[in-house]
Amino acid sequence: MTAGFVTRFAPSPTGYLHKGHAFSALSVFQGARQAGGRFLLRIEDIDTTRCRPEYEAAIFEDLAWLGLAWEEPVRRQSEHMADYDAALERLREMGVLYRCFRTRSELSEFAAAPHGPMPAYRGAPLQPDDEAVRLAAGQSYAWRLSLDAAAERLGGFGGLSFFLEGEGWVQARPEVGGDVVLARKDVRTSYHLASVVDDALQGVTHVIRGVDLAEAAHVHRLLQALLELPTPVYRHHGLVLGPDGKRLAKRDRAATLRELRGRGMTAAQIREELGFG
Ligand code: GLU
Repeated sequence: MTAGFVTRFAPSPTGYLHKGHAFSALSVFQGARQAGGRFLLRIEDIDTTRCRPEYEAAIFEDLAWLGLAWEEPVRRQSEHMADYDAALERLREMGVLYRCFRTRSELSEFAAAPHGPMPAYRGAPLQPDDEAVRLAAGQSYAWRLSLDAAAERLGGFGGLSFFLEGEGWVQARPEVGGDVVLARKDVRTSYHLASVVDDALQGVTHVIRGVDLAEAAHVHRLLQALLELPTPVYRHHGLVLGPDGKRLAKRDRAATLRELRGRGMTAAQIREELGFG
C-alpha cells in the first residue's frame, strides 16, 4: 500500500474509445488497485470544437462495461475554465507569456491531440507598436509560454527534475516542447495547462499514461515550477499498435470498444487480450 496514491485516466471525448484507450484505462486502474490508491476519471473536453456529449456518454458506458469503477463526481474540464484562466493570469503577470499572431493553420499543433513529438517552435513578443496595430485590427492570437522568460525567472531549468518509474530521477528538458501554446481565443486553455492545474487540484500523485505523452512531462514540470504546484511521479505505459504497426487512433473504427462489443466480444476477452485477464 502506498499512502495517498491518487491516479487518473483522462480521456478526451473526441471519438469512441478503442483498445488503446482500454489498455491505458486498465493500466491506470490496476495501478491504483495495486497501490491501494484512488482511481479518478477526468473528462478533458476543453476543445469544444471537437468534443461531443455522445462521446462522453460512450466513455462512461465503455469503461463501466470494461469493469472499471471511478469516484464521483467526475471532473469535467469545460466546467472549470475559471481555474485555467486564473493560472494563465498568474503566468501572464509573471511575464512568461507572449502573444503569438501566427495563423490558426500554423498553430495546428495546438488543435491536434497532445500525442506524438511536439513541434518545438520558439518565438518572442512583438514590438509593442506592431502588437498594438494587430490588436486594433482584431487579429487573433495565441498565448505562448516563453522558454527564455521562464528560464530567466527560474534561473535556468537545471533544478527541474521528476521521478519517472523505471528510470529514476530525470532532468526536465522543457525545450523539447518549444514555446508551447497555453491558450487561444476560441480554446481558452491548452491540454498542458489544464492537465497540470487539474492534477494538482485533484491531488494526483501518480500520472500514468502512454509513452506517446513522454515529452509532455518535461513541459508539465516547467509549468509546475512556475505555478508552484507539486510534481507527481510519472509512469509511461506502452502503446497498443494497429495492424499497420502504428499507434491506434480514433480513426481506427474497427478497434473501438463498441464495435468489438457489437461483434460479440466480451469485456473479459478484451482484458485478457490486453494482458489484464
Ligand atoms: N486528454 C489526454 C488524452 O486524450 C490525456 C493525457 C493525459 O493523461 O495527461 O490523451
